[in-house]
Amino acid sequence: MNSNAQPAAGEMPAVDRRAATEAAVAARRARAALKQRLRSGELSPLKALEFARVPGHAASTLRITDYLLSFPGIGAVKAERIRDDLKISERKRLGGLGDLQRARLEEFVRERSGALPTGDRPPLTVLAGPTAVGKGTVVQHLRDNYPNVKLSVSATTRDPRPGEVDGEHYFFVDQEGFDRMLAGDELLEWAMVHNKHRYGTPRGPIAEASERGDLVLLEIDLQGARQVRKSMPDAKLVFLAPPSWDELVNRLVGRGTEDDEERARRLETAKVELAAADEFDEIIVNDEVPRAAERLFELMRGEDHTA
Ligand code: 5GP
Repeated sequence: MNSNAQPAAGEMPAVDRRAATEAAVAARRARAALKQRLRSGELSPLKALEFARVPGHAASTLRITDYLLSFPGIGAVKAERIRDDLKISERKRLGGLGDLQRARLEEFVRERSGALPTGDRPPLTVLAGPTAVGKGTVVQHLRDNYPNVKLSVSATTRDPRPGEVDGEHYFFVDQEGFDRMLAGDELLEWAMVHNKHRYGTPRGPIAEASERGDLVLLEIDLQGARQVRKSMPDAKLVFLAPPSWDELVNRLVGRGTEDDEERARRLETAKVELAAADEFDEIIVNDEVPRAAERLFELMRGEDHTA
């Protein structure tokens, strides 16, 4: 239609209609970005409630259900029950809550998250390093001796090894399960490791633990560490290094189970991985496992003196 044409009685002029559509699209985009920040833990639920007081802010137009769904562990059924308990109707948006509704919602959020202000939360720590450097052993030592460190449990498409417990060492999922997590944007980072299996870090538990102020550790590969660096610039990246190149070669090829070609391939990969150490905030040399684990724990607690 020609935008200069006269609108019929009661109809909006075409120019205004287009502007209104564009504004609606922009508002939807802003809301989607906000939901994403809430889900990832980047924006705290209490902060979003504050923003909702600002007229025109995306948070003020967020529906109560979408807000509740952004909490880790709240699905559609729970969201409805909570909404009923709080006596807030489904149509309500955060900016349109009555004073009492708002107070009830705020109390619910405070109780649920025990949320620490962002500045008081310890940074998320990521441990990465070359193949065969002994990350698994250091993490096992932390698991056994430092119970207040929360280890992120990754999802993986590989099969469990003997002794591995689903939900404790990994969440073992099939390809479709992993695809679903990706489609739902449930992973903070993910990677195909050794060209074989997919591994990824579920966002929900990380956001929850971080709001509680827990010390959280991710033991992931280099590609994953780089993704975390981008999406969470405050995260602390720790590189576990071998005591020497020769030692790494020993650990890599010591078993003698690989043929020459495989050995050469692994050494090549290790060289590239070692070169990435510069990208990290801290380097820990894995000469003795208990020492390396203790140093890691100190770094996680923010004790940055050099040992
Ligand atoms: P494994 O199969 O031996 O348990 O782990 C193989 C590799 O996958 C290790 O280098 C480990 O750091 C990495 N890995 C485990 N979980 C994750 C994850 O959630 N994300 C990424 N990017 N790598 C992971």
